[in-house]
Amino acid sequence: MNWFLRGIKKGVVTEKRFPEVLWPSTLEWREKGEVKCPTGAISGGEWYPNKCVFCRHCETALSPTGKPLGFKVEKEEPTFKKSFYLYPIDVGTCGGCNVELRLISSPQYDMTRFGIFFTNTPRHADALVVMGVLSPRMEEVLRRAYDAMPEPKLIILLGVCALSGGVMGVPPDVRGDVLIPGCPPTPESILRALVKAKGGEGI
Ligand code: SF4
Ligand code: SF4
Repeated sequence: MNWFLRGIKKGVVTEKRFPEVLWPSTLEWREKGEVKCPTGAISGGEWYPNKCVFCRHCETALSPTGKPLGFKVEKEEPTFKKSFYLYPIDVGTCGGCNVELRLISSPQYDMTRFGIFFTNTPRHADALVVMGVLSPRMEEVLRRAYDAMPEPKLIILLGVCALSGGVMGVPPDVRGDVLIPGCPPTPESILRALVKAKGGEGI
């Protein structure tokens, strides 16, 4: 029980590692074949993870490598090392990204051991987690949420819809500091990206 009380008092990380994530995996060319990509994730012989929804329509030409799909942290903010408050905003999702994001608060992933929390107001938020393609009515909501946040602040684009529009539409017109591909991204990759963004050593 001591470790639990120590963790409550000092924010000690009680567990650091996850099992290696094998899915979603990056893709690579296998052989020549017909490519039917609905999102334009394959172009000029290149595969673009920020556009891939892993529908497998290209499986005659591309195959999984087994290497986990990565994320990109353009800007770290060590100010948030001890506590990092997230305000999720759904600007037009199918619901998939929302479910995976919610899972990082489950006992299995337990984001609080890394000092990561949700808040229900942008005024208390350190990072805006944007999910989905931009529906016109959410444009103003997104802008007001961003304006209400104190500095410094990060924008996290979660899922292919927010990154590139996926199969559903156009992405929100915002520059992301943290880019997390996947359709949807796994809780592991979300948590790893968040820990890195708050200036952690990575897990
Ligand atoms: S899995 Fe689907 S979205 Fe991804 S590259 Fe293949 S066809 Fe395109
Ligand atoms: S990225 Fe995929 S799971 Fe996430 S909102 Fe778009 S379609 Fe749904």
